[in-house]
Amino acid sequence: MKRALVTGGSGGIGSAISRRLATDGFHVAIHAHRGLETAQTLVGEILAGGGSAEALSFDVTDGEAVRASLEALLEKGPIQVLVNNAGIIDDGAFPGMSEEQWRRVIDVSVNGFFNVTQPLTLPMIRTRWGRIVTISSVAAIIGNRGQVNYAAAKGALHSATKSLSLELASRGITVNAVAPGIIATSVSAASFDEQAIHRLVPMKRVGRPEEVADLVGFLCSNQAAYITGQIISINGGMI
Ligand code: NDP
Repeated sequence: MKRALVTGGSGGIGSAISRRLATDGFHVAIHAHRGLETAQTLVGEILAGGGSAEALSFDVTDGEAVRASLEALLEKGPIQVLVNNAGIIDDGAFPGMSEEQWRRVIDVSVNGFFNVTQPLTLPMIRTRWGRIVTISSVAAIIGNRGQVNYAAAKGALHSATKSLSLELASRGITVNAVAPGIIATSVSAASFDEQAIHRLVPMKRVGRPEEVADLVGFLCSNQAAYITGQIISINGGMI
């Protein structure tokens, strides 16, 4: 059984991705930061449904903590599917944005990507089969007012995805990013009301976490072996 790690698996989109990968037959390590109990509950659901999963927690910005957790995870075998999904927003108009807002959002997304992905790469290469999917955002493609920090962070992940895909292409490992539009989670509920969704989304609705998970599930499958280095949008026609 191939093993997967979903960072931010305790969140809205991460939970759906974890469920999908478990349904597709992966053992799923469901990562949380503060919400370990949520991840544990999800593990319980997956086990009850006949799937295979475990929960773990760390702060993706804490390089040492991440390394220690991943070393323990790797003792049981390589991780062949990595979904970098942990992320935060901390919006504000740029003239009033604090250094802390700028640094924190970039720290979680960009340094988090490095801290988690780097230690898993060599063991994945040795298996000659792997999938790395990073969740970015439509904001990195078209920009968004109040999200200069977030767009910069997610845009960096697009560039990292493209470069890493070139390094790993000959090893049977695909590296892609999925850029969602507005997806129904607690984060988007706080940021967009009904009117804004009507104005911004041609399909006049938010996306469901399961719709993102279906795309990620496909990218992690054997059928997607020839797709790499891509930024794939899922946004109801926003761009
Ligand atoms: P949630 O807030 O529901 O989930 C975020 C996840 O990231 C949680 O599991 C959280 O862990 C984890 N996380 C946050 N900070 C850290 C940290 N320092 N270390 C480790 N884990 C951390 O958000 P969504 O499900 O909505 O978002 C998931 C991803 O999708 C994010 O990368 C987001 O930017 C992206 N996205 C979301 C969109 C949306 O409309 N919802 C649109 C476009 C992109 P915990 O809760 O356990 O602390």
